[in-house]
This record gives sequence, C-alpha cells and structure tokens, in this order.
Amino acid sequence: MTVKLLIIGGVAGGATAAARARRLDEYAEIILFERGEYISFANCGLPYYIGNVIKDRDDLLVTTATAFKARYNIDIRIFTEVIGIDRINKRVKVKDIMTGKVYEETYDKIILSPGAEPVKPPIKGIDLENIFSLRNIPDSDLIKARIDADRPKSAVIVGGGFIGLEMAENLVIRGVKTTIIEMLDQLMAPLDYEMSAMVRDHLEQKGVTCYLKEGVTGFSEKGGLTIVHTEKDRHIECDLVILSIGVRPENRLARDAGLAIGNRGGIKVNAAMRTSDSDIYAVGDAVEIKDFISGLPTMTALAGPANKQGRIAADNAMGGKSVFKGTIGTSVVKLFELTVASTGASEKSLRQNNIPCMVSYTYSNSHASYYPDAQMMAIKLVFSPSNGRILGAQIIGMEGVDKRIDVLATAIRGSMTVFDLEELELAYAPPYSSAKDPVNIAGFTASNLLKGDVKNIYWSDIKGLDPKKDVLIDLRDKSELIDSGTIEGSLHIPLNELRKRLPELDKDKNYILYCAVGLRGYLGHRILYQKGFKSRNLSGGYKTYTTGRGKI
Ligand SMILES: Cc1cc2nc3c(=O)[nH]c(=O)nc-3n(C[C@H](O)[C@H](O)[C@H](O)COP(=O)(O)OP(=O)(O)OC[C@H]3O[C@@H](n4cnc5c(N)ncnc54)[C@H](O)[C@@H]3O)c2cc1C
Repeated sequence: MTVKLLIIGGVAGGATAAARARRLDEYAEIILFERGEYISFANCGLPYYIGNVIKDRDDLLVTTATAFKARYNIDIRIFTEVIGIDRINKRVKVKDIMTGKVYEETYDKIILSPGAEPVKPPIKGIDLENIFSLRNIPDSDLIKARIDADRPKSAVIVGGGFIGLEMAENLVIRGVKTTIIEMLDQLMAPLDYEMSAMVRDHLEQKGVTCYLKEGVTGFSEKGGLTIVHTEKDRHIECDLVILSIGVRPENRLARDAGLAIGNRGGIKVNAAMRTSDSDIYAVGDAVEIKDFISGLPTMTALAGPANKQGRIAADNAMGGKSVFKGTIGTSVVKLFELTVASTGASEKSLRQNNIPCMVSYTYSNSHASYYPDAQMMAIKLVFSPSNGRILGAQIIGMEGVDKRIDVLATAIRGSMTVFDLEELELAYAPPYSSAKDPVNIAGFTASNLLKGDVKNIYWSDIKGLDPKKDVLIDLRDKSELIDSGTIEGSLHIPLNELRKRLPELDKDKNYILYCAVGLRGYLGHRILYQKGFKSRNLSGGYKTYTTGRGKI
C-alpha cells in the first residue's frame, strides 16, 4: 500500500525528514508544506549575511524547491500553511497564502517540524518600526536593508543568547555601536556564570556595552530614534533594536489538534519522535525531548538535533525502528576572536535539579607552546563525584575549542569517565596540539581530584573563608602580582620558595594555595600535603577567581 506522508515545515527538520522518507520509499506520496517562500535555508547563516560576511544571499539557500523536487520527487508547496489537523478523519486543512484558497488533504502519517518563533513580550512599544526579530530570510532582508540604506550608528540587542551575541558581532562589523541588555546576571545562559564572564569581558573589549540583570520595560520614539527603557531607569537612544529574547515552540497546530503538550509548550514525543497520536511525529525546535544527562524533559533550539530527529521520524513513519536517545545540547559560537562552546549539563543546571556533581578548571594551550601562535583555552569539566562520568563541559578560547568540545561531546555520548579522558590518544604534532592534549589535561586534573591527589576549593568559596583559620597563599612570581593584583589578605610565597619557607607555616591552619590558573597551586598542594599541612588548591587559580568574582 502506498503511504501518504505530509510534512509540515520545510527547513531543518522538515527537509531532512522529506529527503530521508523518499530514500526509504520510492513509492510513497510525500507532500511538504512550507508557509514561507524558502525551504531548507541556512537560518544559522543569517547574522553573517547581515554582517556582509556572507556576501551572496543565494548562498543561504541550501537548496531550492525546484531542485529538491527534481532530486527527491516530493510535492513541495511553498507559501502554503497547514491550518488544522482533523485526526479523526485523517485530513489536514491547508491555506494557499498567495490566493487565500483553503483546501483539504488526506494523510496516513504526518511529520510536524514547525520550529519556534521569537518571543515578543507584550511590553509598551514592542511593535515600533525600528524593532526587529531574526528568524528567517525575510527578517534578515529587512534588517540588512535598514542597515544598508540608513547606515545606523547605534543598536540595542535585547537578550544575550547566542543569536543576540552573533548579531552583536555582525553589527559591530557593520560599524554600529552596539549595546546588549540582558535580564539574567550573565550572557549565554547555557554557560555557568564564571565562564560567561569571560564572554562579557571579550565583548566589552570589542566595544559592546553590556547591561546585565536589567529588564526592558518599554520602547518609545523621539525624532526618528527608538528609546529603550529599562527597569533601572535607563533610557537608551538607538537607531535599531533587535529582539533576541529566546524562542517559543510553534505548537498551535498541535495544541488545536489535541496532541499532548509539555509544561513549557513543547510538543511531547517519545524516543521514536512519535506524538501522543501514533500517526503523527514531531521534531526540532517545537518538541519536548529527553535530556541525555538528567533524563528530564527539555527543549533545544539547535540545528543538529532537529536534523537528526527529522531523520529518525522519517525512519519510523516509513515503518522502521529508530530511536532518539536524548540531547546533550552541544553548541559553539564565534564571537569576534573568541570561540565559546558547551556540551552536556552545566554545573548550575545540575545543582538546580539536585544532581551531584564536581567541577574542575584547566587552562591549556591550543597547541605546543613553543610553536608560534598557541592560544590559551579555558575548560570547565563537570563530572559525577561517584564514578567520574562526564556530565558536561564548557570551553572558551581562540583556537582549537571546536575540536576539544567535540571530543568531550563524544565522550559524554559514550558515557565515558574522566579516567577515560586520561587515556584518550589524540592526534599530536606541535602545530595542532601537545603530547598531553587539553582534553587529557582536563581528565588528569579531574581524576586527581577524585583519587584524592588534590583537594580543591573554588572561586565562589573564597568569600566564605574564616580569616582565623584559613590562610591564602599566592604562589605566583612577584611580577605577576604587580601586573594583575592578588586576593586581599594573601601571603606571597612564590612556588619555588615554598619548600624553604615551610617553617613559616602552621600545621593548625588551613592553607589555600593559588597561582595563575591552578597548576602551581596543585604542585604546592602536593608539597604541603606530604609535609603534613592542611591545604587546598584554588581550582582555575586567580584567573577563574577574577572572572567569577563579579558574582560574589
Ligand atoms: C538567526 C539564527 C541563527 C541560528 N544559528 C544556529 C547555529 O549556529 N547552530 C545551531 O545549531 N542552530 C542555530 N539556529 C537554530 C536552528 O536554526 C534551529 O534549531 C533549526 O532550524 C530548527 O529546525 P526546525 O525544523 O525545528 O524549525 P525551522 O528550521 O525553523 O523550520 C520551521 C519551518 O516551519 C514552517 N512552518 C511553521 N508552521 C507551519 C505551518 N503550519 N504550515 C507550514 N509551514 C509551517 C516555518 O515557516 C519554518 O520555515 C539558529 C537559528 C536562527 C534563527
């Protein structure tokens, strides 16, 4: 019997599902409905098109409706919105947007991939002319046309998520003075605070102003300018506003059809990507899926999961048995010279869900330090205290970040432990890495902690030290203290003098050792520990302390 498959939404998840379904079944009748003009376009490239980094608009079109139809023999209906699903009679109601004509189409199976829409809160002035959101090619056309025609001098981005930050970079490239306003106390919510602080520092160095912990209360206009009003009574004049507050799953069709919807609005699906109706599948930004680490329901607005789920839903709709095992939310973003990446769970999300975790910070060179242009990267590893299983990682640096995050993402999917990271044999030659790769180093450091070879203290613990019992020792050289300061109240004993100055120390005190990034602190800890002193190492050293201390 010929299967009739309808696919609703023709970009990341929908186009993948359509192509896979055709490869599996040459006889199926497949119709793909897309409300907009384009299928399979590169949403991820839109900020770079606005920034003129991607120069040719056609490069954003991964394929065209005509080319896709020719290759896959799929009935593609652009400018066509599905406006209702009648599950009892297995029919959908369809509207041709160009003519207004409404008609019906029967189905055997449906794959929903309607995506997510930018959040637009009901605040005063939100519909003013100079306020834009970015989801698709027409949105980017509007923003780009405004910049090309009016050469705006200033812009405000509301929301410090990854689309907002990519837009900040591209607006700066276009010569626009840019301000970001974010309600949370940090940019890039998937990161932990102290890691995100490095992102903020870098943006500020590039001239981007960041106002955190500050909600926007409204917008108004004056003399052709837009004024952004905030809850701290700031009134920022600008030529252009980009709203990038987050996205909301497009669930109206599913909700109206009576499909089960999760608490945060995602369409509920099982591991086969099947909704509460066994003939309807759903994928991508619109669905609620399982978090691979916590097992809890989550939603992720990322292209990788949407594409993989599209493939899995097509397999199952065409009679196969494929499973989506959950998401680890691996992401990477370029911000000027910085690469910012994360995978798995953050420390804060695990603590919110009462899942035990330990963390360690390491700073390693992207390749051998003696080969030119090595760059330091910061790695935060999050792992289970009971068995060392890797639960998450965040990396920030200028080179080699993407390959390390992918190794760690693979390790997480393989349920590997920090002890496995010690053993990984990764490619090495001086231009690419070191004989001990940054991933190995992260593994050694976390393993040391679990094996008891080192005892750590963290940047956020410093404020709770007891001055009567706890003594900080700065192990760095004098020139480093002069350059970057020290933690108030610290003794200064450079590491190389520590052995001979042991008589100055007291076995009844608790010593907290620190250096620039944690390595000399570890070496000092080994000396003190073996000489019978109580000591701990400040993980990530003075660098992590200084980036995190805004929060203390
Ligand atoms: C500016 C931007 C940059 C991004 N950058 C990255 C990145 O660098 N990395 C990354 O992993 N992810 C990125 N993303 C996210 C990624 O693009 C999405 O996660 C992915 O596209 C989701 O796929 P989807 O199929 O669920 O939805 P979409 O790709 O959004 O497709 C949904 C489509 O369904 C159509 N539709 C909705 N309802 C109907 C209906 N009733 N009838 C017909 N058609 C309908 C919509 O018009 C839309 O075209 C970015 C997104 C944006 C907007």
